[in-house]
Amino acid sequence: MFTRRSIVFNLTVTSLCMILSTPVRQGCASRAAGLARLPAEASVGFVSDGDTIILDDGEKVRYLGIDAPEIGHGGDPSECYAQKSRKANIAMVIGKKITLRYGIEKRDRYGRLLAWVFLPDGTCVNIEMVRSGNAWVYRNGEKDREMLPTLLKAQREAISNRRGIWGACTSRPSPVYCGNLKTYTFHRPGCPLGREISQRHKISFADRLDAFSEGFSPCRVCKPLSAHTLRHIPGCVIPGKVINIRAQPLFPHSVSQPPKPQKPSCTSRSSW
Ligand SMILES: [Zn+2]
Repeated sequence: MFTRRSIVFNLTVTSLCMILSTPVRQGCASRAAGLARLPAEASVGFVSDGDTIILDDGEKVRYLGIDAPEIGHGGDPSECYAQKSRKANIAMVIGKKITLRYGIEKRDRYGRLLAWVFLPDGTCVNIEMVRSGNAWVYRNGEKDREMLPTLLKAQREAISNRRGIWGACTSRPSPVYCGNLKTYTFHRPGCPLGREISQRHKISFADRLDAFSEGFSPCRVCKPLSAHTLRHIPGCVIPGKVINIRAQPLFPHSVSQPPKPQKPSCTSRSSW
């Protein structure tokens, strides 16, 4: 038997469901339509920077697994090597018929397609941008790890040969860098975002190139790659956990210590 109160409650719930279900259905439908429109091949109409292109049909594509220096907008200065990185991307893809391969996430929060981009000869543009020193590895948390070993190998090769960014963008180093094992970003010591890293996810690097070599990307706020420096607050340092992962010094002239015979243990953190 229904009481008056339960009838009122049921009517209210039914009304709420009717109100809410329409936008939910529409949201699902638009997401499904978005996923259905994943081009396998396309022509490149415009290159925004070193990691983003626009296809002939207007779709924006963000390269998976990499990040490139930002081009300044609205009077803001461009980051070091941003224009050269864009030019390198133009030289590879403009006017070309490309093949797109998608990872776990098909689009980012801005609606851009997320893809590995291949040239007609099979070259992976994402990897080539890293190998030539025009971009760095962006790990995107733990997603899309399939290409990570290849990307890191290309990046270490670019760093040790001082290609592109690695030869051009030298700035005053910080005494230590704070890495976040959850987001794979790293910070200068004074960065407020660096101080928010939980103890569990905190790791320190003695050199920013160590952080890059492990696939950590620089914070967009404190910009560890630029000449900009923040007030030093040694909040991220964990005694005994500052690491230097390079078995061989990348820039021998700047390192007086002989290379260590064994790889330090931090590499065992990852399965690759
Ligand atoms: Zn930061």
